Amino acid sequence: MRLRPEQQDEIASQRSQTRSTRRATVPALEEILYKSFPVLDHGFVRVVDYMGDDAAIVQAARVSYGRGTRKVSEDRGLINYLMRHRHTTPFEMCEIKYHVKLPIFVARQWIRHRMANVNEYSARYSILDNEFYLPGLEHLAAQSTTNAQGRDEVLDPTEAQQVLDLLRLHAERAYRGYTELLNEDAAGTPIDPARPGLARELARINLSLGFYTQWYWKIDLHNLTHFLSLRADPHAQYEIRAYADVILDTLACWVPMVHAAFLEYRMNAAVISATGLTVIRRLLAGEEVDQASSGLSGREWRELMATIGR
Ligand SMILES: Cc1cc2nc3c(=O)[nH]c(=O)nc-3n(C[C@H](O)[C@H](O)[C@H](O)COP(=O)(O)OP(=O)(O)OC[C@H]3O[C@@H](n4cnc5c(N)ncnc54)[C@H](O)[C@@H]3O)c2cc1C
Repeated sequence: MRLRPEQQDEIASQRSQTRSTRRATVPALEEILYKSFPVLDHGFVRVVDYMGDDAAIVQAARVSYGRGTRKVSEDRGLINYLMRHRHTTPFEMCEIKYHVKLPIFVARQWIRHRMANVNEYSARYSILDNEFYLPGLEHLAAQSTTNAQGRDEVLDPTEAQQVLDLLRLHAERAYRGYTELLNEDAAGTPIDPARPGLARELARINLSLGFYTQWYWKIDLHNLTHFLSLRADPHAQYEIRAYADVILDTLACWVPMVHAAFLEYRMNAAVISATGLTVIRRLLAGEEVDQASSGLSGREWRELMATIGR
C-alpha cells in the first residue's frame, strides 16, 4: 500500500485547509502541496512545506548587488546570471520540505547529500510495512561491462521473470522472519502470547535493502539543485533518478525561473576541461584531431565527442 489509510486521511485533511498569510506563496506549488506523487512500485514524493519563491532570490541578490544591478534588473536575467556564475547564496534563501517513501538502498544513496535535514521513520519504534521494491521487468538488466557502476542490456523476459521471482521469494521470507522475531502479526497481535517478541530495533536486521522506509527531507534551493544535478542525471542509478525527476517537476512549479536557469546552465550544460577546450578550438580552426593527438584519455575523448555531438 503506497499510502496507509491514516496517511490518506492526513493528506485529505491538509489539502482541505487554507490559511491566510502575508508570506509569499506560489499558486502552482500550492496546487500540489501535500499531494503524493507515485515513484517506483510503492514509493512517493510529496511537498509538505516551502519558503520563498523566485522573487525571494532576486530580493536577496539585490542586497548584495545594490545599485549595480541596473544592467541585470530583469528578474529572469538576474537569476540566469546568478546560476551561470555560481553566485549561490541567494538560492539558499529558499527552502522546501518533502515527505518521501523510498527503498532503503535508495535512501543510502540519498543520505549522502549532507546539506539537508532529515527525519526518518523509526524502525526501533514502529514496525516496518511489508513492502519491498521489485524492479519492473524492463529495468532488470545485466551488469555493465564498461561501467562498473551501471547496467547494460535488459535481461531476456524468461530470465528477468526468474530474477523477479527470486527477489520476491527472498523478500517475503525476510518479512516472515521479521514478524516471527517480533512475534507480532501485521495488526500488532502477538503470534504466540507465551513468548516475548524480539526488540524492533533488532528484528529489523532481518530485512533487506529493498524494503521501504520514509522520511521528511528539508533542503535549501542551492543544495537541492546540487542534488538534482547529480541524481536527475543519466549517471545516477535509475531508482534514485526516478525520485529526482519527480522533484525536478516540483521545482518547475515552485521556482519556474530557477528551474529554467537550472536546465539551461547546469543540467543540460557541459563542463569542458582546458584540454577539451583546446581540442574544440583546434577543430573549429579546421585541424584534424584524433584521440591520440588530443591529449585526452580515451574516456575523456569519448565524453567530449558525445558532448559536441561528433
Ligand atoms: C553517480 C554517483 C556515484 C556515486 N558513487 C559513490 C560511491 O561509489 N561511493 C560513495 O561513497 N559515494 C558515491 N557517491 C556519493 C558522492 O560521492 C557524494 O557523497 C554525494 O553525491 C553527495 O554529494 P555532495 O557531498 O556534494 O553533497 P552534500 O553532502 O549535500 O554536500 C554539498 C556540498 O557541501 C560541501 N560539503 C558538505 N559536507 C562537507 C564536508 N564534510 N567537508 C567539505 N565540504 C562539505 C561540499 O562542497 C559538497 O559538494 C556517488 C554519487 C553519484 C552521483
